[in-house]
Amino acid sequence: MNKETAKKVIIALASKDTDTLNALGVTVYGNKGRMWENEACITSLDDIKGECNPRLASNYCTVEHIGCPQCIKTLLDLAYGKPQPQATRV
Ligand SMILES: [Zn+2]
Repeated sequence: MNKETAKKVIIALASKDTDTLNALGVTVYGNKGRMWENEACITSLDDIKGECNPRLASNYCTVEHIGCPQCIKTLLDLAYGKPQPQATRV
């Protein structure tokens, strides 16, 4: 996920814009408990191998349930800059 995409995702998340999130390829993971707490993970942050980036499971969470603090932080860092391990092309 690049910087521009991350920004679009943040904006779409803020406005609960499911169509845009689907178009951006955002997928969600979280078990029932996390869904209820709106702390589901974003599973399409593939550039970042976060501590919480489950890939092997999916369930019926929807984008409205995204809210994992770790994923949101990663997304914000991606969008608004924090030195990344990989060199960024300018
Ligand atoms: Zn997460």
